[in-house]
Amino acid sequence: MAYDRNNVFARILRGEIPCSKVHEDEHVLAFRDINPLTPTHILVIPKGEYVSFDDFSEKASDAEIGAFCRAAGRIARDLGLAESGYRILANHGRHAHQEVPHFHLHIFGGRDLGRMVPKGLE
Ligand code: 5GP
Repeated sequence: MAYDRNNVFARILRGEIPCSKVHEDEHVLAFRDINPLTPTHILVIPKGEYVSFDDFSEKASDAEIGAFCRAAGRIARDLGLAESGYRILANHGRHAHQEVPHFHLHIFGGRDLGRMVPKGLE
């Protein structure tokens, strides 16, 4: 899938749409989800143009991947989630219902999150 430069996170990165920023560095931007599912719900995105985790893990440089991983851990720590616990999640593609085609990690926290993915039609 080709990268769409008009996706909403690309527009946030260009400053065309505001966001509630919690972290920014050379490679990474993180901000609060507009429709939070938990008391703390953060989106962590690389500044590079990657459609999803599949794309990012294949094409991003070691520096981008390292910065992304470090930033996600640090954001959770800085928000006080490391002690109580949190969940990180990345949706890729149709089965995961990915909505925004710019790779992002969700960080959920601030309450008990239950166990894993709901059991259903396996
Ligand atoms: P996905 O299903 O692609 O993993 O999740 C996309 C997430 O982006 C959703 O949780 C949705 O609420 C969030 N989102 C969509 N548009 C915006 C926006 O304009 N600003 C912010 N902060 N979050 C957004």
